[in-house]
Amino acid sequence: MHTSSKSAVVYENSLAFAQQQDALDPLKKYREQFYFPQMHGRDVIYFTGNSLGLQPKKTQDYILNELEDWATFGVEGERLARNPWLSYHEQFSESLSKIVGAKAVEVTVMNSLSVNLHLLLVSFYRPDKNRTKILCESNAFSSDRFVIESQLHVHGFKTADAIIEVAPRQGEHCIREEDLLEAIEKNKDSLALVLIGAVNHYTGQAFNIKNLTAAAHQAGAVIGLDLAHAAGNIKLQLHDWQVDFAGWCTYKYLNSGPGGISGIFIHERHLNNPQIPRFGGWLGVSKESRFKLNREFVPATTAEGWQLGTVPVLLLAAHKAALDLFDETGMEALVAKAEKLTGYLEFIIQEVNKTQDQQLEIITPSDKEKRGSQLSLIPHKMGKEFYNRLMHAGVITTWLEPGVMRCAPVPLYNSFEDIYRFGELIRELAVS
Ligand SMILES: *Cc1c(COP(=O)(O)O)cnc(C)c1O
Repeated sequence: MHTSSKSAVVYENSLAFAQQQDALDPLKKYREQFYFPQMHGRDVIYFTGNSLGLQPKKTQDYILNELEDWATFGVEGERLARNPWLSYHEQFSESLSKIVGAKAVEVTVMNSLSVNLHLLLVSFYRPDKNRTKILCESNAFSSDRFVIESQLHVHGFKTADAIIEVAPRQGEHCIREEDLLEAIEKNKDSLALVLIGAVNHYTGQAFNIKNLTAAAHQAGAVIGLDLAHAAGNIKLQLHDWQVDFAGWCTYKYLNSGPGGISGIFIHERHLNNPQIPRFGGWLGVSKESRFKLNREFVPATTAEGWQLGTVPVLLLAAHKAALDLFDETGMEALVAKAEKLTGYLEFIIQEVNKTQDQQLEIITPSDKEKRGSQLSLIPHKMGKEFYNRLMHAGVITTWLEPGVMRCAPVPLYNSFEDIYRFGELIRELAVS
C-alpha cells in the first residue's frame, strides 16, 4: 500500500486493484474504440501513444466516406461532399481550440509540424540590429534544432552566435525552470525568440508555460511552442497565457494517423497585423476572395491566413475521426485519468525497484504539474536489452539514444491492468 501525497489515490500492486480501477474509470469504454496491435494472441501493452497514437476504429469509415464522395461527385465534392472539401478544415477550429485552450479563430490545420515551424518562424522570428538570438532547450528534438539553425542561416547568422541552449545541470536530466528564466533575463537585450517544447520529448518534463511566456515578453522577446508532446496530453491555455504562436503534430496523442495533418495556433493579437510577414498561398486569403484570383494577397484575419494550398482531405478525415473522441471526452477527464495512470505506473516501477536490483531510474519529474502521460526510464542494469526484451514480450515503448525508454500510458485507451501487467513483466525480466 502506498498513499500518493498529491492525488490521494491509494495504489496497490495487485490485479484486483487494477481491474477495480478500470471498472470505476469513466473513460473505460473508449479502449474498445481503438485497434490494438496483436502479439502472442492478445493486445500488446501499447505505451507509445506519444510517438504514434493507435487507430480509432471509426477512421476507416471516415476515409471511405471521402473516397465514396469523390467517386460520386468528382470535383463537385468540394461543395457537395458530406464534409464539403473546401471548408473541411474549418470544422476543426472548435475542437482544437478546446484542446489547446485557444479561441477558434486562433487555430487551424495545415502541412506537417516541421514545415509549420518554418512557416511560423518566417512570421515570428524577426531579428533586428539588436535582437537576433533564439533560446531553446539543449535536448530539443532534432527537427526543432534543424529548423532553428536553418532559419538562423537564412537570416545570415552563425548558429554559435545566435542560439542559446539551456541544458540540464550537471548530473541532472530535466531543465530547471529557474535556469530558463535566468537565461531569458540574462539575454534580454539580444533575445528575439524563445522556442520551446511545452513537454520535452526526451524527459517528459512539462514546463510552466505561463511563467516562461511572461518572462519572454518581459524581456521583449516573442515565444513560440512546439506542442508535439503536449497537444492532447496536458492542459493548455495558450490564449490566456498570451503565447505568441504554436505548432503540433496530430499523430501522437491526437491519434490522427501516420504523417497526419499538423495544427497551428497564432494569438489573436497577431491575426490582423499587416506588419507580420508570411509566405502566402491561395488558401490564405479570405473566403470571399478565394476564387476571384486577385493579384494582391490579402490574408484572412484568422489563423487560416497562414494556409497555403489545397487541404489534404484524406488526412482531415482521419483527424476528424480522432477529434470526435476528444469532443466527447473533453480534456479535463483525460487529464484527470492521465494523472492517475501515470501515477500508477510510477508506483509500480517503484515497487519493482524495491524488490529487485533492477535500478530503473525515472527521470521524468514526479510532480504531476510537471509532466503528462509519459515516464522516461533509464534501465541502468540492462540498457537497451531491457527495451528489446519487453518488445518481445509484447510491450511497445520507445527507445531513445543514448539510453532512455519512454513509456506513455494514454488515458483514451490504456488501462490500469496494462500497467499492472507491465509491472509483472518487468519483474520477470529482472530475474531472468
Ligand atoms: C514528433 C516531433 C516532431 C515531428 O515533426 P514532423 O514534421 O511531424 O515529422 C517535431 N518536433 C518534436 C519536438 C517532436 O516530438
